[in-house]
Amino acid sequence: MSKTITLLGSTGSIGTQSLDVIRAHGYKVHGLAANSSVDLLLRQTAEFQPETVCVVDESAAERFRTLVSGLSKPPKVLSGKDGLTQLAAEPADIVLNAVVGIAGLAATLTALENGRDVALANKESLVTGGYLVTNAARKNNVRLLPVDSEHSAIFQCLQDAHSAKTLEKILLTASGGPFFGKTRQELEHVTKEDALRHPNWSMGAKITIDSASLMNKGLELIEAVWLFGLPAEKVQVVVQRQSIIHSMVQFSDHSILAQLGVPDMRIPIQYALTWPDRAPCPAPELDFTQLKSITFDTADEETFRCLAACKKAIGKGGLAPCAANGANEEAVKLFLQDKIPFLKIGELVEAVVDSEPFGQPYTLSDVYECDAMARSYVNAHV
Ligand code: NAD
Ligand code: MG
Repeated sequence: MSKTITLLGSTGSIGTQSLDVIRAHGYKVHGLAANSSVDLLLRQTAEFQPETVCVVDESAAERFRTLVSGLSKPPKVLSGKDGLTQLAAEPADIVLNAVVGIAGLAATLTALENGRDVALANKESLVTGGYLVTNAARKNNVRLLPVDSEHSAIFQCLQDAHSAKTLEKILLTASGGPFFGKTRQELEHVTKEDALRHPNWSMGAKITIDSASLMNKGLELIEAVWLFGLPAEKVQVVVQRQSIIHSMVQFSDHSILAQLGVPDMRIPIQYALTWPDRAPCPAPELDFTQLKSITFDTADEETFRCLAACKKAIGKGGLAPCAANGANEEAVKLFLQDKIPFLKIGELVEAVVDSEPFGQPYTLSDVYECDAMARSYVNAHV
């Protein structure tokens, strides 16, 4: 069936892989959005001919307006944060949110509030505003379709609604990242180049650092709690170094289902777009003649404090996960600028989570206020 997709964050790692899937299926693109990569966005616009394009950065948007005027069918061009939410509200069958960071939250909420199903790669939407996002989906009777590979795996394992009622435990797999098995002492002087070298996945810089610090797994644990409704104690992180098992679910009879495949995000991206159907995918098949072993380990939370801090945060509830996320976004930025050492990321995230009790119900403006508090805490403690 032909679908119309709006793709936010189209120039990133998930964005460009999403366009591979969209191209393979001949889906129509209603809208594209990115922060500032105008040259790539221009090529995407020429190929996919969207009605609307949003360039969030204002000066990049000016440049883009000049560039698109030369196209035979120029799109409407929006800009700024408001442009992004305006685009998210425009008609489409699915809004695929592949923006990085809390910058994606408002668009997720707007899309849901306007009755659009959201294919969600932007896990930070659920981490910072899980209560608002899940309420908006419920109230407007629309779906959150997971794109994150682990959550897609869990979603796929829960398609039998009858068994899903007896879901007892989620086994959230983790690659362990480039620093698996290292001690804190060994991690004292690692560089951003070391941290950016992920063994199995090629991704944007922020999530690659999050994978090295295990913050990504902490964010995913919180994401899983919101998507699948189990308490955090029922989500167990299992290190699966080869990233072949993308996650597992355990039912009341202790039977376990897993989803396997090559580490290629086009499989979960496509499942979110074709659901409930399956279709041929541009990703290769898993070759069991080459796969020698699948190994399991436990995650070292003493070394990787980000994961411990995220567990503490979801335990505290309210805005604590938002604070953990804000602290991490700021700390990762500082680490990528060589302003703080690697281990400091986890120390700062944990310190912010420990800094306040964090009350229960919240509004969108509370989320932004908490995010700003966490960021200024980080900047005051480097
Ligand atoms: P990326 O850095 O490669 O791309 C980010 C995209 O967001 C770009 O198109 C960029 O222009 C846009 N963007 C950045 N700041 C923006 C802003 N302020 N407003 C609007 N757009 C903005 O990131 P990525 O690796 O593609 O990750 C995107 C999201 O998907 C993240 O939330 C990440 O955690 C999640 N995710 C990524 C992967 C992966 O394999 N890359 C896997 C699972 C989940
Ligand atoms: Mg993931």
